Amino acid sequence: MRFSQYLVTTSKEASREAECVSHQLMLRAGLIMKFAAGIYSYLPMGYRVLARITCIIEEEMERIGAQRLLLPFIQPAELWKKSGRWESWGEELVRFKDRKGADFVLGPTHEEVITQLIEQQINSYKKLPVIVYQVQAKFRDEPRARGGVIRAREFLMKDAYSFCQSKEEAKAIYEKMKEAYKRVFSRCLLDYRLVEADTGTMGGEFSHEFIILTDSGEDRIVECEKCGYVAKLERAVCITDEAEKGERQPVKEVSTPGIRTIKELSHFLACQEKKTLKTIFYETDKGLIAVLVRGDHYVNEEKLRLLLKAKELKLASDNLTRKEIGAEIGFIGPVGLDRNKLVVDNTVMQGKNFVTGANKKDVHLINVNPNRDFKPTLTGDIRFPVLGDSCPLCGNETKIKRAIELGQIFHLGEGYSSSLGATFLDKMGKEKYFIMGCYGIGVSRLLAAVIEQNYDKDGIIWPKEIAPFQAVVIATSPDTARAAEGTYLRLKKAGIDTLWDDRDVSAGIKFSDADLLGIPFKVILGNIFLKEDKIEIKTRRRGEKEKVGRNGISQRVKELIKDAE
Ligand code: ATP
Ligand code: MG
Repeated sequence: MRFSQYLVTTSKEASREAECVSHQLMLRAGLIMKFAAGIYSYLPMGYRVLARITCIIEEEMERIGAQRLLLPFIQPAELWKKSGRWESWGEELVRFKDRKGADFVLGPTHEEVITQLIEQQINSYKKLPVIVYQVQAKFRDEPRARGGVIRAREFLMKDAYSFCQSKEEAKAIYEKMKEAYKRVFSRCLLDYRLVEADTGTMGGEFSHEFIILTDSGEDRIVECEKCGYVAKLERAVCITDEAEKGERQPVKEVSTPGIRTIKELSHFLACQEKKTLKTIFYETDKGLIAVLVRGDHYVNEEKLRLLLKAKELKLASDNLTRKEIGAEIGFIGPVGLDRNKLVVDNTVMQGKNFVTGANKKDVHLINVNPNRDFKPTLTGDIRFPVLGDSCPLCGNETKIKRAIELGQIFHLGEGYSSSLGATFLDKMGKEKYFIMGCYGIGVSRLLAAVIEQNYDKDGIIWPKEIAPFQAVVIATSPDTARAAEGTYLRLKKAGIDTLWDDRDVSAGIKFSDADLLGIPFKVILGNIFLKEDKIEIKTRRRGEKEKVGRNGISQRVKELIKDAE
């Protein structure tokens, strides 16, 4: 490809709207162009990378026997009503009517459609298991599109679905898919982590996420740099350190006029926030529950719900709390709350001499001790981790880091097949629901993620497997232009994807654009060519240089590509 004719515009200027490195570099390298919030076009240079990522995904999916198909982007609402997601999805799901007044949605994911398709295509166990996948645009009306294509509204996703006869078969496919994902991310040179995840709006029984760590991520994870433990913040296990040492002091009332928040309290009494306790009321299908965590901790409502084995759980209103306790918000405490269910976080049980509300206006208690001054009905790990918590595996201090999700896999079980009535006949001729799994990769987000981990001050550094071009031929003087053209043709003939920078611009601009675009090898015809008849090759990632005779150039570039990362 000749650069002078290629639809790419590079820019030195940093864009003010770009919040993260990948967004900045994608705009500067002319990979994408924005049309509206979270809606982008991919220019040829960006599209080449997307196509290469898709190619890797296709190879890895075929390797595990998955079959590619293409589902409709626009889906009848009827299916979503049957699965219950017409109600449970919020405004991310774009709904509209056709000219006849029928409801439709823009596909944000395709469980419903694929379940209907398989229900109609397969009726016997003989065709099972089956894995299908597609690479397609999805639309989710995200409230805050950000980071360019990292969180877009329209984005490209690879979504795969598996249909099995038994849970064992489904689990085996889940594991195969996990291995395929590892290969995809490794081939894209991503330093990723695999973490357990919640099943969220997708539903299902268990799930894993593939993530990368990056400061621009919106998710938060806990990582132990010593043993490698890593977990999403909401799933991280909080272990309690040893019991606090020291004597239990007698409880005393203290006057705290107008002091309601933990911050105000710790300031007023000159104590650390971790020496205070928060008492919070929740309404659940098991009744009203009082929950106790340390002042510096936050309740993880999902952990609490699981511990209580409750179906529903929500914060009680201030009015209800007031009515129940007869005390003002800000002065509530566990002492004397015995008639309520009192759920206490493990960390609280290890502490001593806490400050709590006294269930009287403008009064707090000091030296409140678990088991002496209040008795929990239930104890457990019901909080989010905080900085400095110990690793649940090795006890070392953990760190809290930011992350981006690249992909997620779900064991769905019979959720969708039962709600949509998708069945097959098993060996005994009995009608059974398909056991399903679904597996997504954000293809367009992956492109940005690769840049987040592969760049330097000069621009992108593409891994060879997904680089838009493998080599760029640069003549640094008009005297080498013809030889550059010959070299370009030679490389092309040898099957190497090559860009020829034939523009009438300075050598400096050619070099800086080649760096910005991240092309793995520069093939340079300059002074050395004129003096020694040698072509220079410079690698983008390591900046290594070497000289090669013109006859050996294709061979050498091929070897270098083979050995490159
Ligand atoms: P997130 O938590 O980041 O919103 P999600 O859990 O809603 O993602 P899934 O439904 O699991 O996403 O979709 C599969 C993959 O699609 C994700 O792992 C992610 O890589 C990608 N993806 C999801 N939402 C977006 C988006 N708004 N823009 C770009 N990629 C996305
Ligand atoms: Mg997800």
